[in-house]
Order: sequence, then structure tokens, then C-alpha cells
Amino acid sequence: DVLINENINFSGLLLSDNILSGLQKAGFQRPSPIQLKAIPLGRCGLDLIVQAKSGTGKTCVFSVIALEGIQTESFALQVLVLAPTREIATQIWDVINSIGQGIPSLRCHTFIGGMPVVEDKQKLKKCHIAVGTPGRIKQLIETNTMTTDSIRMFVLDEADKLLEESFQEQINWIYSTLPENKQMLALSATYPEYLAQHLTSYMRNPTFLRLNISDPALLGIKQFKRVVDYHVLPNKVFDNKTKVVIELLSSVNFQQCLIFSNLQTRAQNMADVLISHGWPTACIAGSHDQRDRNEAMSQLKTYKCRVLISTDLTSRGIDADKVNMVINLDVPKDHETYLHRIGRAGRFGTFGAAVTIISQGQEEKDLRKVEKRCNTCIKDLPDPIPNTLA
Ligand code: ADP
Ligand code: MG
Repeated sequence: DVLINENINFSGLLLSDNILSGLQKAGFQRPSPIQLKAIPLGRCGLDLIVQAKSGTGKTCVFSVIALEGIQTESFALQVLVLAPTREIATQIWDVINSIGQGIPSLRCHTFIGGMPVVEDKQKLKKCHIAVGTPGRIKQLIETNTMTTDSIRMFVLDEADKLLEESFQEQINWIYSTLPENKQMLALSATYPEYLAQHLTSYMRNPTFLRLNISDPALLGIKQFKRVVDYHVLPNKVFDNKTKVVIELLSSVNFQQCLIFSNLQTRAQNMADVLISHGWPTACIAGSHDQRDRNEAMSQLKTYKCRVLISTDLTSRGIDADKVNMVINLDVPKDHETYLHRIGRAGRFGTFGAAVTIISQGQEEKDLRKVEKRCNTCIKDLPDPIPNTLA
């Protein structure tokens, strides 16, 4: 593995002055290990596949590489960044603008579903960096609203998600409209083997950068499970899983908590119960309209809510640095989803706890499978629940 000089700061990476000042204003002093490894290689123009656990600063990696590469004299579109959800796209846009705040006339815009296309047209008149979700970007290219001829860098954030079946056709199509000669960057915390291979086929002899291969996502997060007697009763909202959640929230000293469920109805029920118990709670689901989704995210980030309940929509990429507890109301559909969910606690080297509440029987078996695939150990949650878990 590459030796990393922990004492180096961003100025050691020979970045332009305005980007250095942007990084400083954004509160970034020293590069994280993955930033130290990936930024110099990316600036050389190499195609990169970057794997590093969530919260290690991958957004800053491609933001700096992109910002160093754009020419602001022209307003032609030069960088296209794709992300799987609107929230992640908005968050990326925020980071790019923050790191790029010292670059005169920089134009970076988001292009996401749920917002009017008329505004997109206006934004595209002057746009160096476009950050968007696949559906909207495809639509804009298809209708000749967005031109791709001058794109020199293509970024897939949460790349493994973007290569899943639900997105693949759109990504292939967008890729086919891009100039041959471009740099491509793909970033994620997890890459199932077959997706990594697929990704490689898009790229020119890509360089793989991996950190913590043995334990890419779990460092700093204590994992627990609690088995309960659980039956879904149609009119009974206050079930045994709910009891454990209430006990967790009241016993554990947490800053902010994310609660995940595979089911929208379960998420919504849980939100109703917690609100009725006086917890400042927001709920976010794919079926909610975009304004409500933005509102829920902003409540989380401004600390107006302490608990956010969600389906897997927000299990990836969302960065809320005060979240230090994650509760799963059921076993996620695969081990990657488990890693992304619990990775929400413990962003950028902080510590957190994750508790999965399961019923006896099938869920126990499912969780054991996840545990095995992650090569980790999920302990029983102590009873009674202590004040600190992490
Ligand atoms: P990832 O995409 O790897 O999950 P993010 O890019 O969302 O991680 O970054 C996680 C958090 O770490 C963010 O709050 C970000 O502001 C912070 N961060 C990233 N790089 C640095 C740095 N060099 N110094 C301090 N904080 C950083
Ligand atoms: Mg990310």
C-alpha cells in the first residue's frame, strides 16, 4: 500500500491558490487518506475507481479534480457529475461551490427531477459543471437542451448504485453521447465484483484506489442487534420494535439518529409514533414530493430534527455530520445496503452506533447472512440499554 504522510496539508498537493483558499474556507485543513491518494492521480488525468468507506471525503476528491481542470474563460459545459438521488446531487453541488468559492465566474448547477426544466435551460446558458440525476440529465441531452461535446470529465458518485439495473440503461445512453476523449472517475464505498467489471469497460485502463479493503465501511461504528417477539398486527402501531426504538432514543446519549425501514408504511408509522412522543422527527420517502424531501434534509442538517426516518432513499451518500446512531427496523435487502445505512453514523472519523431490530426466525437468519458477508460481528444490544453505545 502507498505510504501516506499524515502531516501533509492541502498546500502540499500543489493546488491552485483559489482552490486552496476555498478548501480552507470550507474548513478542510488536511486531506483525508483517500484525498491524498486520489487527488494527485486524478489531476494527472487518469481514470480512477475509488473505493473508500463512507464519510472519508470522496466528494472533495472529485470536486478538487474537476475544479482544477475547468477553464472558466468559456462557459461551455466541461464536467458532468451523476448521482443516484436528488439529495446527493444537491449536496455535491454545495461542496463544489464551497471549494470553488474563490474561482471567479465559476458556474456549477444541479439538474434534478422534480424541478422545472425551464430553469435548467436558463442554468445551461452558463455552466461549467453539471451535477444531476440520470433521468433528468438524459432528458436534457435527448431534447438537445444540454450539449455534451465539450465535456472532458465524467463522474459517477455512488457508482455501484448507478450501475444497478434500474439506472443502467440511462447511464449507458448518457455515456454514449459523451466525447471519446474524457477522464472518468467512479466513487463508492462498495463495489460488488460484477459491477466493478462492468465499470471497467467504460474506462481507459482505470486505476483502482482502495482503502481499508478488509473493512471498508465499518471502522468506528459499533454494531448491535436486538431480537424481539414481533407480529405485524393491522391496527397495532405500538409493537415491540417500536418499544425498543423508544427505549433507545430515551436511554442513549445521541446527537442525531437515522432510522431505516424497507417499508414506507412502517417508516411513516414510526414517524407518527415518535412525533406523538414528542421527538423532533422528520420522515423522508421516495413517494414524498421534492419540496418535502428537501425540507426534511434541511431539518436534519440544521439540527431542527433529531430523528430522521427513511426508506433506503437516504441510506447512501447523505452527509449529516451529527448523526451518530442508526437504527434498522428490519434487515436491509443486501449487505451493501447494510453498510451504506450504518455508514451514516460515524462520518469523517467520528464514532457511532448501529442497532438492527429483528424478529425471531427469518430475520435472524437474514441478519446472520449480512454479518457473514460483511465479515463483521454484530453483538447483542445490552438490556437494559446503556447511555453510551459507541
Ligand atoms: P463520502 O462521500 O466519502 O461518504 P463526504 O464527501 O460526504 O464522504 O464527506 C464526509 C464529511 O467529511 C463531510 O462532512 C465533509 O465536509 C468532511 N470532510 C471531507 N474531507 C474533509 C477534510 N479534508 N477535512 C475535514 N473534513 C472533511
Ligand atoms: Mg459520497
